[in-house]
Amino acid sequence: MTERIHNFSAGPAILPVPVLEEAQRDMLSLPGVGMSVMEISHRSKTFDEIISHAESSLRDLLTIPENYHVLFLQGGASLQFSMIPMNFLPQEGSADYIITGSWGKKALKEAKRAGIANVAATMADGGFTRVPGSDELQLDPKAAYVHITTNETIEGVEWKKEPDVGEVPLVADASSDILSHPIPVDKYALIYAGAQKNMGPSGVTLVILRDDLLKRIPDGLHTMLDYRTHVDNKSLYNTPNTWGIYIISLVCEWLKDKGGLEAMHRENEAKAQLIYDAIDGTEFYRGHADADSRSIMNVTFRLPSEELEKKFTTEATAQGLDGLKGHRSVGGIRASIYNAFPLTGVEALVAFMKEFEEKNG
Ligand SMILES: *Cc1c(COP(=O)(O)O)cnc(C)c1O
Repeated sequence: MTERIHNFSAGPAILPVPVLEEAQRDMLSLPGVGMSVMEISHRSKTFDEIISHAESSLRDLLTIPENYHVLFLQGGASLQFSMIPMNFLPQEGSADYIITGSWGKKALKEAKRAGIANVAATMADGGFTRVPGSDELQLDPKAAYVHITTNETIEGVEWKKEPDVGEVPLVADASSDILSHPIPVDKYALIYAGAQKNMGPSGVTLVILRDDLLKRIPDGLHTMLDYRTHVDNKSLYNTPNTWGIYIISLVCEWLKDKGGLEAMHRENEAKAQLIYDAIDGTEFYRGHADADSRSIMNVTFRLPSEELEKKFTTEATAQGLDGLKGHRSVGGIRASIYNAFPLTGVEALVAFMKEFEEKNG
């Protein structure tokens, strides 16, 4: 097979075709270098330019203020679940976690190993269908930080605006909606995101960290688990994922060509709306998330029976619509439509949904 199919995978996920083409073109030899990016030293001038370009592009796209560090780490978003409490949850203090889905639960589990982590709100009872209102938050003004998951990839639940946490540092797992819309970075103390949803290949984790937080880190942590190591060494303490950082820099260029994050946001909204309209227009499909918490990246919905859901994904796959099976923990259908996912693919899905309903409704 040489034709590309419609890839609705939640992650690792679709990358922009122009990025893949450029990477392919330069695979054997980066222009002027004579070697591929995977074969050069992470301490070479060429790689220094690549990582600097990735950082400055992210700073431009997300308007990251000067007093924030931009790090490219490894271990996935999952290692951040541990590093954050190890670095910022003091023995005599506590942290607040707002749980809007499966990833937040995992983050909480690791925080509990490091110290006292309180649940400031959990939407588990309703099956994680929405984000909490401000009146539902039990925030401790003395908490070391408040942790949220900006977009719950599995349930398809997304914050549209950050919760008001007062002076307490806000920490966010933005793995599946980073770069999908502009964010007010200055409202956060730390933002982290695995690259493989919306930014690049797996194996790189972006961390955006406000400088004053470094003062809170206790001494005695393992070198690799201490954020100061990576700040002091500009993400080059050990060998980073050089290929992954290179692809991120290409994805950033592609985003700039598309007009930046505001333009990207408009496109993402329009794509998601097409599917949500198809869901809302019938009783046959049932959206998982409440309308005001719906994700523009991961659209989750159910059919009248599990049998029909199985039939739906099987027939969709046969038509080149791949990766629509919902996560095993919630079932149903999940269409992940990240930045690189084309409008034509969304239109193909909507057409398939109508056709499937006509035959089976
Ligand atoms: C995928 C994902 C993770 C896990 O990322 P890894 O890089 O596999 O550790 C964590 N949080 C969210 C929101 C995700 O979507």
